Amino acid sequence: MADSNSPTRLVIIGGGPGGYPAAFHAADLGMDVTLVDLEKNPGGVCLYRGCIPSKALLHAARVMREAEEAAHFGISFGKPKIDLDKLRAWKASVVESLTGGLGQMRSIRKVKHEYGRARFLSPTRIAVDAGEGDPKEIDFDYAIIATGSRPVQLPMFDYSSDRVLDSTSGLDLPDIPKRMLVVGGGYIGLELGTVYAALGSKVTVVEMLPHLLPGADRNLVTFVQKRLESTFENILLNTKVVESKTLKNSVKVTFEDKDGKKSDDTFDRVLVAVGRRPNSEDLGLENTAVNVIERGFIEVDEQRRTAEPTIFCIGDVAGEPQLAHKATHEGVVAVEAIAGKKTVFAPHAIPAVVFTDPEIAWCGLTEEEAKQKEIEVKVSKFPWAASGRAKTLERPDGLTKIVADPESGRVLGVGITGVGAGDMIAEGVLAIEMGATVEDLKLTIHPHPTLSETVMEAAEVYFGSSPHFYQKSRG
Ligand code: FAD
Ligand code: NAD
Repeated sequence: MADSNSPTRLVIIGGGPGGYPAAFHAADLGMDVTLVDLEKNPGGVCLYRGCIPSKALLHAARVMREAEEAAHFGISFGKPKIDLDKLRAWKASVVESLTGGLGQMRSIRKVKHEYGRARFLSPTRIAVDAGEGDPKEIDFDYAIIATGSRPVQLPMFDYSSDRVLDSTSGLDLPDIPKRMLVVGGGYIGLELGTVYAALGSKVTVVEMLPHLLPGADRNLVTFVQKRLESTFENILLNTKVVESKTLKNSVKVTFEDKDGKKSDDTFDRVLVAVGRRPNSEDLGLENTAVNVIERGFIEVDEQRRTAEPTIFCIGDVAGEPQLAHKATHEGVVAVEAIAGKKTVFAPHAIPAVVFTDPEIAWCGLTEEEAKQKEIEVKVSKFPWAASGRAKTLERPDGLTKIVADPESGRVLGVGITGVGAGDMIAEGVLAIEMGATVEDLKLTIHPHPTLSETVMEAAEVYFGSSPHFYQKSRG
């Protein structure tokens, strides 16, 4: 330990949305912070190979789709010309400007940067291997593991072939394949599938479970599925890939449906997106008391402290949900715990957003979860077909849904699908965190004409009908 007058020496391994906000907060609290990462600037998967590049491409996809659909109200632009080099360069410039900005934030805050792969030598020392010369050893009072996750690979695919993509190579946009298979109907499969379909690929999605986005509310998924059915070539549910063979210019895939019936098809490229595995190996954890639990996650308590008192852990490697904003909040909790503040990570709701078209967003309890856990709830729904704003956008394909405690009227969950649902869900999160009731949402004046009014109207429907939605049976 350093003497009691010197600042706490904190080492953070991993510069993603868990690690870099933790490093910056710790520096703001006066700690001596070293951030170890394998990139020049902070950002992690989210900025370099995840949230940001995918949302840039989804924006491009949406612009194309909106331009095409403007023909419905008399404005035609003609067929888009896609300059893939320019699109890639623009996406890279977005990433560069954000990660460059974080590099500056790091310097301003005097957070030390160590480039290389970190390993624990003991509960108070790491070695950082930059790939040249001897690894550098660094002593610390506390460390935070924020090493994130990487794509799960399926054994039947040959990943040495450039025909088989994961989310990282998929975001590089190697080309616009004529026919593309997306394995996994989860977040990444549907977001990147949407991008490739907009660029002109004929996309097939194969999902082994009976539904797309298995964790999301079924009512909400219906809207997205309907639209995807019109943009994707095929959506295969209850179906697994059992075999694949890489040919010269394609990949031959064998599917098996729930009745065991097999069929073959051939695709120009295959994108595999079947989940992400925590990066908890090769960290030298055997030199510490840190405990790795099922599926490779690191065990943490409510302050994000591991079984080793000097070592904390946050983000994707610390458990689900594997979302950037959850990592960031855990980082702040861990740093405050290290600073001796009273703190726990105990959110009432963590929002989830799938940036498909339309978007799906939810927070708190879903109707399905309530059923599974036998929690009595009252649910109200407001269809966007009755929203003036949705009509002006020509996007009535949406729904706002409130799940509440029938006794107290307390909001337990909110689900929204529709354009911009991801931005709107913050109101639901705030309602849950503040212990708001459905009546509070009903009595809150929302601006007109906006999509946010659908939250207020769903609250009105909870008590009977809203001005724009009449339902006969009340209660
Ligand atoms: P990461 O961001 O994974 O960062 C970990 C860092 O640690 C990396 O820089 C890595 O190089 C470094 N590292 C690993 N091991 C070592 C080591 N031994 N030594 C030194 N450094 C090491 N989430 C959302 O909330 N919204 C989205 O829209 C979204 N979109 C996504 C899209 C895609 C395509 C993908 C793949 C993910 C997306 N996610 C999204 C998930 C999000 O990226 C993760 O939840 C988030 O990045 C986790 O942050 P983290 O800090 O735990 O780790
Ligand atoms: P996911 O867990 O979201 O979806 C994987 C899907 O693949 C599931 O539906 C699963 O049933 C299916 N699957 C698994 N094995 C299969 C198989 N052999 N054949 C067919 N289907 C199979 O995983 P993901 O899409 O890889 O994304 C990983 C994580 O990254 C997400 O869970 C999320 O936490 C994060 N992420 C978030 C966002 C966002 O916030 N918008 C975007 C992308 C990724």
